[in-house]
Amino acid sequence: MKYDADVLVIGAGPVGMTVANELLRHGVKPRIVDKSPSIREVTKAMILHVRTQEVLDKVGVAERARREAQPLKEVVVHAYGKHVGSWDLDDIDSPYKHPLIIGQNRTQHLLLDLLHERGADVQWNTEALSFEMTADGVTTKLKSIDPATKAESEQTIRSQYIVGAEGSNSLVRRSLNFTFEGERYTGEQFIQADCKIKWALPKRRSYLFLTPVGYMMVIEFPDDIVRIFISLPDDNATGAAAAASQLGAVEAMNEAPTLDEIRHHFEQLSGFSCELSEPGWLARYRTSHRYSNRFSRDRAFLAGDAGHVHVPIGGQGMNTGIQDAFNLGWKLAGVVKGSFKNSILESYHAERHPVAEGLIRGTNFAYQGVLHPSELRQWATRMFGPYLIRSDRVQNFMRNTLEELKVFYPESPINLDLGGAKGPKPGERIRDAEMVRASDKATLSLNEITRSTAFTLLLFAGTEASGAYPDIAKLATEIANRYAGTVEPYAVIVDPKLPRDLFKPDRVLIDTLHIAHDAYGVAGPAFFLLRPDTYIAARGPLSAQEKLFSYLGQLLQ
Ligand SMILES: Cc1cc2nc3c(=O)[nH]c(=O)nc-3n(C[C@H](O)[C@H](O)[C@H](O)COP(=O)(O)OP(=O)(O)OC[C@H]3O[C@@H](n4cnc5c(N)ncnc54)[C@H](O)[C@@H]3O)c2cc1C
Repeated sequence: MKYDADVLVIGAGPVGMTVANELLRHGVKPRIVDKSPSIREVTKAMILHVRTQEVLDKVGVAERARREAQPLKEVVVHAYGKHVGSWDLDDIDSPYKHPLIIGQNRTQHLLLDLLHERGADVQWNTEALSFEMTADGVTTKLKSIDPATKAESEQTIRSQYIVGAEGSNSLVRRSLNFTFEGERYTGEQFIQADCKIKWALPKRRSYLFLTPVGYMMVIEFPDDIVRIFISLPDDNATGAAAAASQLGAVEAMNEAPTLDEIRHHFEQLSGFSCELSEPGWLARYRTSHRYSNRFSRDRAFLAGDAGHVHVPIGGQGMNTGIQDAFNLGWKLAGVVKGSFKNSILESYHAERHPVAEGLIRGTNFAYQGVLHPSELRQWATRMFGPYLIRSDRVQNFMRNTLEELKVFYPESPINLDLGGAKGPKPGERIRDAEMVRASDKATLSLNEITRSTAFTLLLFAGTEASGAYPDIAKLATEIANRYAGTVEPYAVIVDPKLPRDLFKPDRVLIDTLHIAHDAYGVAGPAFFLLRPDTYIAARGPLSAQEKLFSYLGQLLQ
């Protein structure tokens, strides 16, 4: 069968461009089309959470984003007229220590630059109109508009797979008759402005004001710009009723707010006077939550807003979409290249659908809580908030939830748990740890090692000098020969004096201080298989080698 492209990605928002970049990084060149003429220059999703930065590190843009973003280290909380304390978002247990504030358009430009560097481009002004999927491929009808002459032309493109990353009105989702259940919040509207501000509170922090009638956030962008985000009651009953049938996360309402209107509500909700100037993006909208009943069928996949939309509380929408893309990219590339069996693709829906479900539940719960606080909740927050917010438990819960550090796949069909360790389980995010490479004594972190596009197999010798090294070297050599380029084995030893000539010294990591052994809860000889998207695939005692081989045999070609 001849294809025009292995993968057609529909939509060049942040999610489509992440899928495309991941495919390219893993050696597959996709086609990517978007009906818009270019990136839309609005700041929309302006927060990159820590887990997303970890993901973008592998994709290849985290460092660039960090260079131009504003760090978000602290959110000061004022609740119902009282300053209750701060959420500390700094020094998070990750190579990326805090969230970053950067406009969505800038994130998209960084992803587009990377696409260009990798020899690909977006075909702008090109809309996917329809597609037909058969057992051996997908034929998609595209309509392009020449920006100079406005002449329209149609073409069909045959690909092995398609990815619908075309936002909440997804053609792929509608064509496959997937549902998109949920509801629009009709009692509230949001107004927001990017602008400069003069007020009494210090810079380099963000602020949350909870009030009986709504909430407000003030978040600092680079260049002394802030995003002011305000929820208000929506008293336009007709508009609200009509809005209930809209599908998108956000329905733009006709009149953008003026800076004066923003200032009026700002002063009312915060109790602080302010001067606002130099308005950038001003918007007024309603919001909703919905998700598709399926994220894939056969050769078609949904990612990002195409599959799920939620209220923008906690800034999770784009972040979750980028993580969908990251989950899908390596699997799809591996199947296209013939390295993985097709069945791995089923794990995409199995892993990402529960994440979207959980996110919608969580954001809805948080939203209802802040929007309609009972008198009792307001009183309790004023009374106990200052104590609660200081507790490590509350702080850790907030950090882990907001920063998406506990997005795990415990029920994934591609997990293999044979025990052998007390640390993280299959389906959990990898733990970082620094070790010394035997070949050149360089300090190397697992974060760096897992930038590879292959699976990483850590073969731990155990914390006692157990004599396991020859076994480890034999297993590592066998894996390296059988799965060259797909699985990269590393021996992790505690005693630098062990014989190193049995296995490649650049694949021997010395863990004298037991940092990696402790991070993975390993005492005796054990293995951990890490996926290319930095989740744990499998773990077990070294004695369970046969089961490891049979697992790899089921997954890989
Ligand atoms: C005001 C606002 C604030 C937000 N704040 C946050 C935040 O703080 N944090 C966060 O994580 N998220 C936030 N979001 C949500 C975030 O913007 C979205 O989740 C994100 O844009 C989704 O990315 P996407 O790539 O899935 O879809 P989109 O960004 O919608 O991109 C889809 C692309 O597909 C193209 N397209 C559509 N149909 C077709 C077709 N048939 N053929 C070809 N191309 C097509 C479109 O032109 C578009 O470029 C916010 C959204 C809004 C509106």
